[in-house]
Amino acid sequence: MFNPAKWQVWQDPDGTYQVVRRLILENARDHLPGYGLAFVFMALVAVTTAASAWIMKDVINEVFINRDAVMVYTIAATVMVIFTVKGAATYGQIVILARIGHSIVASLQRRIFRRLTEHDLTFFDKAELGDLAVRINKGATSANAVIEMIVITLGRDILTLIGLLIVMVAQDPVLSLFAFVIMPPAVIAVSFLVKRVRKHARMQFVSSAQIVSVLQETTLGIRIVKAFGVEGAMQRRMDVAIDDVQKQSNKIMALTARTSPLMETLGGFAVALVIFYGGYSVIELDKDPGAFFAFITALLLAYEPAKRLARLHVNLNKALVGVGMMYELLDTKPALVNQAGAKDLDVSDGTVVFKDVVFAYGDSPALGGLTLTAEAGKTTALVGASGAGKSTLFALLERFYDPTSGTISIDGQDIRTVTIESLRQHLAVVSQDTYLFNISLQDNIALGRPNASPSDIEQAARDAYAHDFIMELPDGYDTLAGEGGTNLSGGQRQRIAIARAMLRNAPILLLDEATSALDAESEAKVQAALRRLMARRTTLVIAHRLSTVRHADVIHVLDRGQVAESGNHADLFAQDGIYRRLCELQFQSEDGTKDRPAAE
Ligand code: ADP
Repeated sequence: MFNPAKWQVWQDPDGTYQVVRRLILENARDHLPGYGLAFVFMALVAVTTAASAWIMKDVINEVFINRDAVMVYTIAATVMVIFTVKGAATYGQIVILARIGHSIVASLQRRIFRRLTEHDLTFFDKAELGDLAVRINKGATSANAVIEMIVITLGRDILTLIGLLIVMVAQDPVLSLFAFVIMPPAVIAVSFLVKRVRKHARMQFVSSAQIVSVLQETTLGIRIVKAFGVEGAMQRRMDVAIDDVQKQSNKIMALTARTSPLMETLGGFAVALVIFYGGYSVIELDKDPGAFFAFITALLLAYEPAKRLARLHVNLNKALVGVGMMYELLDTKPALVNQAGAKDLDVSDGTVVFKDVVFAYGDSPALGGLTLTAEAGKTTALVGASGAGKSTLFALLERFYDPTSGTISIDGQDIRTVTIESLRQHLAVVSQDTYLFNISLQDNIALGRPNASPSDIEQAARDAYAHDFIMELPDGYDTLAGEGGTNLSGGQRQRIAIARAMLRNAPILLLDEATSALDAESEAKVQAALRRLMARRTTLVIAHRLSTVRHADVIHVLDRGQVAESGNHADLFAQDGIYRRLCELQFQSEDGTKDRPAAE
């Protein structure tokens, strides 16, 4: 998982403003006309709010004191107009801002996902699903919340406050001063809350990510969870995460809510002061009661926007934690990208050469100066104990990682110097853990060549001995594979994967043989499909079967990240080295005692 302590936005006390600035610059720019219109509506809300306070003066003076009957109608009609306009403007502003907000969330989520897919495997080795899920979800929605808070507060609330302040100052400048005395203590008190809210918001995010992770592990590993009866342990892990989210949410709410009693008390103090002085001046000094009422109405109406403004800093910081997480992810640069001026790979016959290749996953070495050649159009088998480096060799050839030193070349071109897309186009992979996506079988096969026609897809399926079983399924080629391919048997999944590779028709084939045994009929079909696929292609195969190594042109025995022995089956077996021991361990049960390698 990413180390939260390293996240820039939380260490930099002034990061708030930088993040907000970036957010606005990157996202608000595209929506300027919409914001312009929303701003007009917000100005209307502000003006009508101020007018509703202003009109109180006439209500009191003309209706109640002067008892002017005509004015009753005029004022009532005006009030109706004011509130109708205010209602319509509020509606317009809410709808426009919500639309813009949703479009910002959508485009941020697209950007995050695109960035994710650009990353190489080093990133995914470290990443956790829960962490990523929370970032793409909460990150984007927090970004929207921040923008909305700023737009509404700066637009509607500040404009409204200005309108109301004008009313207040115009009606009674001295009283206005009284109302302002509460501002400084409110600001100081709120700023104390901000830091603590941030801390808890961060902890809440980490625990939310944990919930998704535990959920994922439990669903993916449900067979193991049930077989070993560890439901309780998973539940406890989940409980810890859920409890923590609950605890943090409570803390955050308690802190945020503290702004309420604070503002109520201070607000009450200000209102009391105003009533005291205002009442005194009306009663004792014979001042205009209408002006006083207009003033007090403006003051009371100013209370809500002022409260929101006071809380802005706290709420903003709460949401900025999510935005920080999102930017963390967006800002991680993919480590493995095309070199400047990279050309497309040009395959003439498809000879693959590994030369002195050294590679480690972080600190743990995987290949220690591996050299081997896979001849064009031939089958090269890789054998070796688990952990010898066979899969790593494939991963490096696919450029999921780059070697620490040494070179890998295809027909004389260093694969680092060619474009990653062209390299992968020339490779077809059939691995033992065939992953099918939960889309139709037709689309799963079409992943081999996205622009393939339905007849090409069917031909590939026929060549892979998959057509017949597909036709027997109720929905045929439209059958959904299920998440990970659960609707099919192991052998069927493998044949779909072979069909995919057939369709790709790449000159170089990487084959990771399944270790688990299939039933005899399935096995025979898979083998036949593979033989067809391997014909005339440069094939590198991680071999677990005696039949495969027997048919291979060359066998390389890998041991601790290096080639220990090379040759054909008979030669290697005669050497009485690692290969012979592997054969005796691995292959004897498969082909029965009669057909043991020793009998060759
Ligand atoms: P094989 O395919 O021959 O079983 P691998 O190429 O998978 O061997 O593994 C070679 C070494 O690299 C092993 O020590 C293994 O533990 C390590 N390794 C493989 N994949 C990773 C990974 N994603 N992260 C860290 N270490 C890995």
